[in-house]
Amino acid sequence: MISPSPIECEMKRRHFLKNMAATSLLLIGCNIRVFADTHAPVNKLRLTDEQWRARLTPEQYAVLRFSETEYAGSSDLNQEYRAGTYVCAGCDLPLFKSVWKYDSRTGWPSYWDAIHEHLTTRKMIYAFRAPVEYRCARCDGHHGHIFDDGPQPTGLRYCSNGAALKFIPS
Ligand SMILES: [Zn+2]
Repeated sequence: MISPSPIECEMKRRHFLKNMAATSLLLIGCNIRVFADTHAPVNKLRLTDEQWRARLTPEQYAVLRFSETEYAGSSDLNQEYRAGTYVCAGCDLPLFKSVWKYDSRTGWPSYWDAIHEHLTTRKMIYAFRAPVEYRCARCDGHHGHIFDDGPQPTGLRYCSNGAALKFIPS
């Protein structure tokens, strides 16, 4: 086997550094997200930005399509405790049952469990302690984050934006 010449080594080193730089830029461009898991397939709903704007209220659009967070205490769903189902405001996919809702005193509708196969989750790479984000599996709309300070039996708190949900009484 022939050892690589110094020039070859230098070329390889430059190639490696160039790839590293390109990868870094790609990560920054992608908002440094890691897609942790994707559950059972659901029929995807993909619309153009124009179609989403027409379909959603400005508040729903800001939360679902741009991952904004509504003001704490701003959602009427904070006071909603009737029996029923909470569905995605973007595509009507059922996400939470009313029996899982509880008062977390955070100002955001909170649930200790979810219909897992209807959610996807992801976690930011750069923030070690960042909570897991969850999205609607059908329309990929942003809904909220999962914290580990919820009640038993799961110990989880699905902290949701009320604007991203619609309540369907049973
Ligand atoms: Zn949806």
